[in-house]
Amino acid sequence: MNYDFDLIVIGAGSGGVRCARIAAEHGAKVAIIEKQHWGGTCVNIGCVPKKLMMLASNFGDQVEDSHGYGWDTHKGTHHWSILMQAKDNEIARLNKIYVSLLKKANVSLFTGQAGFEDEHTIVLKPSELSEANSQEQRLTAARFVIATGSTPTVLNIKGKEFGITSDQAFYLPERPERVTIIGSGYIGVEFAGIFKGLGSKIDMVYRQPIPLRGFDEELRQALYDALAQRGITQHVKLTPAKIEKTTEAYRLHLDDGQILETDCVFFATGRKPNIEGLGLEKIGIKLADKGQIVIDEQFETSKPHIYAIGDVVDKINLTPVAIAQGHALADRLYGNKKRVSAYDATPKAVFCSPPLASVGLTEDEAVKKGDMEIYVSQFTPMRYAFTQRKLKTFIKMIVDKASQKVVGLHMLGDDAPEILQGFSVAIAAGLTKADFDQTIGIHPTSAEELVTMRQKTRTACKKS
Ligand code: NDP
Repeated sequence: MNYDFDLIVIGAGSGGVRCARIAAEHGAKVAIIEKQHWGGTCVNIGCVPKKLMMLASNFGDQVEDSHGYGWDTHKGTHHWSILMQAKDNEIARLNKIYVSLLKKANVSLFTGQAGFEDEHTIVLKPSELSEANSQEQRLTAARFVIATGSTPTVLNIKGKEFGITSDQAFYLPERPERVTIIGSGYIGVEFAGIFKGLGSKIDMVYRQPIPLRGFDEELRQALYDALAQRGITQHVKLTPAKIEKTTEAYRLHLDDGQILETDCVFFATGRKPNIEGLGLEKIGIKLADKGQIVIDEQFETSKPHIYAIGDVVDKINLTPVAIAQGHALADRLYGNKKRVSAYDATPKAVFCSPPLASVGLTEDEAVKKGDMEIYVSQFTPMRYAFTQRKLKTFIKMIVDKASQKVVGLHMLGDDAPEILQGFSVAIAAGLTKADFDQTIGIHPTSAEELVTMRQKTRTACKKS
């Protein structure tokens, strides 16, 4: 059977672009389809603009910190529109780079909403990214990769239409003075810090006692304290009941009867796989309960020639993981190569202020495997010696008692993501506490603490 392409990748986000480029570099005839924006969520409405906004949000505090060091600087006013314009320019630059990388790799680019007509045919309908007067067209391929990502969800409460998600947060015409964030996952914690740093009053409403469920408990407690120290109000163990709009503001009703008046209700309540319009039901692709595409270890769906990677499979929903999956798949299918990634040691970071990062096991996960030696250190870094603000750094190391391998590292403090990126190599390599101890530190830094933790804080016994 003759097809138009060897491979069609649906979705030009981080995972899809890497997969398409590598497959084409191995000699496959590849097409990629994008409906909304080149580079996907990460570049356009995710990691990249979020980090730029987080960087912007830190300058105000840094100006004040500089006073203790002798600078007569003034905080002044933050101009939201300047930041938004600069961010949009940067995204436009990155969009062009993505297009040019794909073209240089000889990938054919298509815009539109893709839907399967049959197991080897895609119908492409014009979308917002398509040029005016674009026509519906059909494309065939031997193989397909679905890399369509995910989209934010909102809670099903009365007045939910008055709330925004991260998608809109990147395009607000002005910064709301009062922001109420629902949820305490990655997005909730990060945007709480962004809006706070830029001058908004922040309320967080979440159903756990401390934020960031899934991370190490002690790290979460350190985060709770850091958010409180930053002046972010946390309404814990609560969920919203409804949102009302008044002429001036919004009123968020909580399930304990409290009402929070706010200028912006921000749902940071998780994301769902993007499968709408793909026609997966037509060709019998198996989905799991949350709509995520079911795959095996080779990224193969219930149809052997159709693969899925990234957020749409809802495994580890992080950009570098999607990229690793896309690369490995293209290498296997067209390069006859096996590419291995240490998914178990996937480092995670949350860009709050100060940021946090984790790699390896949490204490709760670790003690299911055996007795653990726990090292904890909390200190005020030298940077705050002369400042009014005294942000604490928290570091926790989890060492398997029997093997002496360092199985988990957790840090909240300035540069935590930069520091733990390096140390994640040690975790992936299975290095021991003795390996850490024989490493000479860089002085004076916060990171040197990781190689100078002499005093064990406690032993945590195995829990079955
Ligand atoms: P998360 O899954 O991280 O957090 C969702 C939050 O919403 C949790 O606090 C959760 O509470 C709450 N929630 C969910 N359902 C309900 C409900 N019915 N009622 C009340 N609260 C609810 O999702 P995010 O939207 O923050 O982020 C999505 C994903 O995007 C992340 O998990 C991550 O994979 C990725 N991401 C990564 C970033 C990074 O690497 N820095 C940055 C941003 C996003 P509970 O904990 O109780 O379930």
